[in-house]
Amino acid sequence: MSKNKSSESVKVVVRCRPLNQRDQSNGPAGGIVQMDLRLGQVILRNPRAPVTEPQKTFTFDAVYDSSSKQRDLYDESVRPLIDSVLEGFNGTIFAYGQTGTGKTYTMQGAWMDPEKRGVIPNAFDHIFTHISRSQSDKQYLVRASYLEIYLEEIRDLLDPKHGTARSLELRESPETGVYVRDLTSCVCKSIKEIEEVMNMGNQARAVGATDMNEHSSRSHALFLITVECSLPGPDGRKHIRVGRLNLVDLAGSERQAKTGVQGERLKEAAKINLSLSALGNVISSLADGRSSHVPYRDSKLTRLLQDSLGGNAKTVMVATLGPASQHYDETLTTLRYANRAKNIQNQPRVNEDPKDALLREFQTEIARLRAQLNHRKWRSKQKKEQVDGEGWDDGTEREEEIAEEEVETEEEADDYVRLEMETEAIRGDQFMLAEEKQRLLGEKERMMGDLRKEQEATEQLTAKYKAMESKLLVGGKNIIDHTNEQQKMLEMKRTEIAEQTRNEREIQQQMMAQDEETLELRDTFTSLQQEVEAKTKKLKKLYAKLQCIKAEIQDVNDEHVRSRQELEQTQNELTRELKFKYLIIENFIPPEEKNKIMNRLTFDPEEDQWKFQPLVPAESKSLQMQKRPTSAVGYKRPISQYARVAIAMGAQSRYRAENIMFLELDMSPPNTALLERSAEAEPNQSHSVDSSPTKSRGVRKSQSWCQNPKSIPSSSSNVSLAACHAAAPMAAQ
Ligand code: ADP
Ligand code: MG
Repeated sequence: MSKNKSSESVKVVVRCRPLNQRDQSNGPAGGIVQMDLRLGQVILRNPRAPVTEPQKTFTFDAVYDSSSKQRDLYDESVRPLIDSVLEGFNGTIFAYGQTGTGKTYTMQGAWMDPEKRGVIPNAFDHIFTHISRSQSDKQYLVRASYLEIYLEEIRDLLDPKHGTARSLELRESPETGVYVRDLTSCVCKSIKEIEEVMNMGNQARAVGATDMNEHSSRSHALFLITVECSLPGPDGRKHIRVGRLNLVDLAGSERQAKTGVQGERLKEAAKINLSLSALGNVISSLADGRSSHVPYRDSKLTRLLQDSLGGNAKTVMVATLGPASQHYDETLTTLRYANRAKNIQNQPRVNEDPKDALLREFQTEIARLRAQLNHRKWRSKQKKEQVDGEGWDDGTEREEEIAEEEVETEEEADDYVRLEMETEAIRGDQFMLAEEKQRLLGEKERMMGDLRKEQEATEQLTAKYKAMESKLLVGGKNIIDHTNEQQKMLEMKRTEIAEQTRNEREIQQQMMAQDEETLELRDTFTSLQQEVEAKTKKLKKLYAKLQCIKAEIQDVNDEHVRSRQELEQTQNELTRELKFKYLIIENFIPPEEKNKIMNRLTFDPEEDQWKFQPLVPAESKSLQMQKRPTSAVGYKRPISQYARVAIAMGAQSRYRAENIMFLELDMSPPNTALLERSAEAEPNQSHSVDSSPTKSRGVRKSQSWCQNPKSIPSSSSNVSLAACHAAAPMAAQ
């Protein structure tokens, strides 16, 4: 992997949507957001503050006001990033902002209207146009995936069973970093195909949502495009570069009300913005630069965007604002968030020849299929030559007519026709013996069958080969028809202009910063009066600045107080819930059961859940099943500790190592037997019970009714009991 050590900061652009009717009807007309496009500044007015209070100013890489076009944003801020992805960098664009401020509009836009198409469809255009215009020695493979994070669960939007499927898991590998296991990935050969993938995912998203608005504003949608490109390197070998592009439409950044809800709803509410607040923490700790720990692992979203924030990707953040005065607080929070993100440094690098490149696999498979096809071709030629050599022909000279270079299928078809003709000839031959005729006809029939089979197999192989090959896009081919020169020129000019605007803005921003620094140096005073004036002016400026900072401190404090209160409320709710659960556990669950459960539980940080450990540890389980416990020394069979102690204690133990049983049965014989005996009324029988020798030993054995084979029909159990009885005295001695 080649490394480009230079770091670059996350690009942050801000976009403000036009004032809509609802804004106007809900609050005082007129927006609170002003933008200086030339300087890339956003000026925010506090509608509740007195007019004298200075307005808040934020500077960004670019700003787009309500009249901005989708195309402007794309050409100036997104195009360079997509170009980098096509060169093999990882890239991320994410839209952040309050619900209803235009995140989805910016990312997707209105598909039908070319003017209103958002970043994603424009990126599709861009990628496939680039491929069609690249040199023919380059091969490309484009894949797309679409997922959604809702309530901290990852759902595959391209999985047809996504509604019922379990949430997907995150995994980490040193090669690709963090990835989603078993995520569907569709190979796309054209703009149309990738648009279909996108629409399919959007539909799944809409279907999965019970309340569309609520769901879509609370879930994060990630569209992932992987562009693999194989190109010949200076060493003459083919190298593969893989660019991964994440297009992220985040959940609405507004604070969710968590108070007053309980149980499942509470858990849900606590989870809803977990990813966003974790994202905020990651941004803060990265922007701060001092903290050594970045809490990426706190949420699914931050783990997925790990590369994009402080990692090896190039990142653009689009912060969206609404101009309405009633959303002042949220707008200010968004601007602060965006302002912080500007300070994040990434170290982008090209992914060269990664092990998991699918393109390499495809190329190998295509080469294998091609070799198979060639082999078939060669084999069929050999066969044909053999057949020709055998020389049963009726003077037909068709074979010579077939040129060697002809396509194989045509040759095979011709072969088939030839065989048919030969068969006809044999049938028509009146001078041939019937037997001979039959044999030859059978042979031809078999050959035709073989040929047909061969033909089918070849066709299948060719279809597979073609399907495989068609997935790879080769540069220099006209995939889309608007690749004429004029269009190309226009795009180039647009890019140049965008570049120029960007440079101009950067210079302006630098000049402004320098201005402030050199204000002192430039001032030379001719008179005391002038000096006083200049210093008063400067004082005023600095005072205004001080006021701004004070106001900001106040704002930040207020915000912290608010979020602390909210956290405390959530904590209170959770504590109450916990007490309730404790009450149930302490009073209604037996302590030994509780302990058993507690001992088996372990926390799985990967899935953020408590899990039961298996009753028998997995490895010992298999051992246990395979291996019989070894006998204790001197005994024929395994024997428990208790049994050993019992044997040591006395002779009358049941726990013998030998296969001998002492049964101290204390049951009365079945009534039926007694009744039978009483019916028979044999007094000497009952006497024999009393005078039984076992009785005198104090061990009441199985009763005499079972010793009398006459009275009881014999059965295996009776036999064994009788045997026991006979053996017992011997063993006891
Ligand atoms: P979000 O995804 O942030 O919740 P949407 O993208 O759904 O917000 O935008 C809300 C509404 O505002 C939509 O009707 C959209 O068409 C409109 N809108 C947003 N941004 C713009 C813009 N820059 N120009 C025109 N209309 C916009
Ligand atoms: Mg949206």
